[in-house]
Amino acid sequence: MRVLYVISEADPFIKTGGLGEVGGSLPLALKNKGIDVRVIIPKYSQIALELKKKAIFLTSFNVPLGWRKQYCGLQELIYGDVHYYLIDNEYYFNRVQAYEEYDDAERFSFFCRAVLESIRRFINFKPDIIHCNDWQTALIPVMLKEFYAFDPLFVNIRTVVTIHNLRYQGIFDWEVYYDILALPDQGLCYQRFEFYDSINFLKAGILYADEINTVSPTYAREIQNPYYGEKLDTILAVKKDFLTGILNGIDYGKYNPHTDPYIYVQYGSYTQKSKNKVKLQEDLGLKGNKNTPVLAVISRLVAQKGLDLLVHIMPQIMEMDVQLVVLGTGELQYINSFHYYTRLYPDKISYIDYYDEAMAHKIYAAADIMLMPSRYEPCGLTQMIAMRYGTIPIVRETGGLKDSVTPYNQFTGEGNGFSFANYNADELLYTIQRAVGAFYEESDRWEALVKNAMHSDFSWERSAKQYVNLYTALFHNLS
Ligand code: ADP
Repeated sequence: MRVLYVISEADPFIKTGGLGEVGGSLPLALKNKGIDVRVIIPKYSQIALELKKKAIFLTSFNVPLGWRKQYCGLQELIYGDVHYYLIDNEYYFNRVQAYEEYDDAERFSFFCRAVLESIRRFINFKPDIIHCNDWQTALIPVMLKEFYAFDPLFVNIRTVVTIHNLRYQGIFDWEVYYDILALPDQGLCYQRFEFYDSINFLKAGILYADEINTVSPTYAREIQNPYYGEKLDTILAVKKDFLTGILNGIDYGKYNPHTDPYIYVQYGSYTQKSKNKVKLQEDLGLKGNKNTPVLAVISRLVAQKGLDLLVHIMPQIMEMDVQLVVLGTGELQYINSFHYYTRLYPDKISYIDYYDEAMAHKIYAAADIMLMPSRYEPCGLTQMIAMRYGTIPIVRETGGLKDSVTPYNQFTGEGNGFSFANYNADELLYTIQRAVGAFYEESDRWEALVKNAMHSDFSWERSAKQYVNLYTALFHNLS
């Protein structure tokens, strides 16, 4: 089976968050399962020079986009055993950032159309399935059906759209619909794009795709309800027979405490882990003490992540004998709050207000508890990475957090973390108190909990198998 995996970011080419992690690791896992998978991404100027240099020019052609005809260079390279194609257009992708440009609608419409046009130019590769990810690629199912329906090369291709975060939908002005998309029968497509006086790329993608999935089973159910549905809940509920949830995995090669080059002391046991803690405490100007539990946050600082709850109970947390390390940047209100509390409790809090991959690894290795009180969480990688490093997650029971964290049972010793149900600061506080209590008073059990967490399996193996099943079902429906 041949799968063209279309995504707007893939580590190590470009990564702005969890999407890039998935783009950088799922394709290899699929390849290891026997799928001929090839990844296609925009050739952003931010891609490292040594990777760009490895890319070979295949061909160039013009891509139609409304009244425009835009240049597209198609390049390819093999990286880490995976076949990549790069879509080259300086005008669209030589920018200071990957997203949030004034013309994102045009940039990603171009990308989608360029991907489809590239299929004509691939050598020895005709995809059976195009796997799209998020709104940036959601126009592919639309364009496939509207522009290529009668082309024998495309007629049997099936599409999957994965929703990594329903909050981001690609909502634009109607002008984009007429001027850039210029679909053959605009009247017919109208309702599929229409969204509160605007147009919505993801909505159209959902309605045109053969199969939709999200990145955890719980999130797949949640988004069919108004609280989580981001105004697309009714559409998702209608499409529920085509909607599944497949939990993401993490890259076990990259996130491995035995071999991680970023951490102070590589380890496989709890005792070794605490050496990382003392070093980090000292580096961050906190008192070095392996017996003090270190709570951590590694996160984009946005409303989704439930940081209001944490900020609300900060004084109570500071009454406990704990330290808090926060790594994250984002909205000013959270940045200000963390700076404020760091000034108030300089011996107990350390806040690092930028993006730092190496520091993230150090914290994963050093901390005892990872806080993720998210309002919603499609999958969440942070809790999985934390567990891999023996750092116990405290999560709100939503989306992928619910699907990956089994609450600790003090009677049986089962579980790999702590969780609470409602979006409520007192519940978070109570859960932190329980976890810190267990750390101090049940040290043997805590060690067993760390072991459970480290042995939980979040490799891509299981998820890749589910994607293969999904592709296979689609593929066989064809014949
Ligand atoms: P999301 O994709 O919603 O941001 P995830 O939990 O799925 O959340 O993935 C977040 C990823 O980004 C994790 O790998 C986490 O370690 C990393 N990360 C978040 N903030 C930072 C930061 N300031 N520095 C380094 N890594 C970060």
